[in-house]
Amino acid sequence: MIPRYSRQMPLFGESGQKALSEACVFIAGAGGLGSPVATYLAAAGVGKIILLDFDAVDETNLNRQFLHHEKDIGRQKAVSGSEKLSSQNPHITVLPVCEKLTDKNVSELTGGAGIIVDALDNDETRRVLAKFAFNSRLPYFHAAVYGFSGQVSVFLPDGPCFFCAFPADESNSSCELPENVGKTGTPAKPEKFPISGTVCGVIGSLEANEVVKYITKKGELLSGKLLIWDGLTNSFDQIEFEKDDCCPVCGKCNGENK
Ligand SMILES: [Zn+2]
Repeated sequence: MIPRYSRQMPLFGESGQKALSEACVFIAGAGGLGSPVATYLAAAGVGKIILLDFDAVDETNLNRQFLHHEKDIGRQKAVSGSEKLSSQNPHITVLPVCEKLTDKNVSELTGGAGIIVDALDNDETRRVLAKFAFNSRLPYFHAAVYGFSGQVSVFLPDGPCFFCAFPADESNSSCELPENVGKTGTPAKPEKFPISGTVCGVIGSLEANEVVKYITKKGELLSGKLLIWDGLTNSFDQIEFEKDDCCPVCGKCNGENK
């Protein structure tokens, strides 16, 4: 056992650390959420990380996207991020993917990963990824941030799916969210919404913590629960939701799975 993991081994045990080293995690987004998520998973010893982002580093990213530095402006985020992660932990494999995720390429780009992490900034791509995860029976870890608040949830193959919580027609959403939280956390389009870097750090760390717990089989996951954090009041809320028989993706009330 290499010394870098000695402080977490009492928590995870040898089997947990082995599971981390054998895990392959696909992270969609190397930005505000992707920075803390990928950093903590790399530090924990996740054996293989596939880091996807089609965007290039912009100066306006630097208040929160700490995988990228001043010198990286103009470079591909997936490449810049992968370099930092490999430098941080040379014992793991990090693969950059500089492509835009679509329903046509999602299966190929996720590259056989066993865990799907949503560190995205837009609803459209999030739905593509969530649907792929459901159809592939892969665990889907969701996080979203906006302004001073953010949310985290986990969607397991046999639990309620992403679309049970966030149906396309949000008037049917089983989650009653506070007004200050976007229904799926972020706007439909990845416009320049306001965001504090610290919020990305908190929410991304919570998401990474769920991934680590899943891999090492520790604790209780946020399956069927949406955790919402308001950074202005320091309040954590958990909204519970169940599998929706009329869910457009996993529901069976119409006698069909779309
Ligand atoms: Zn569903």
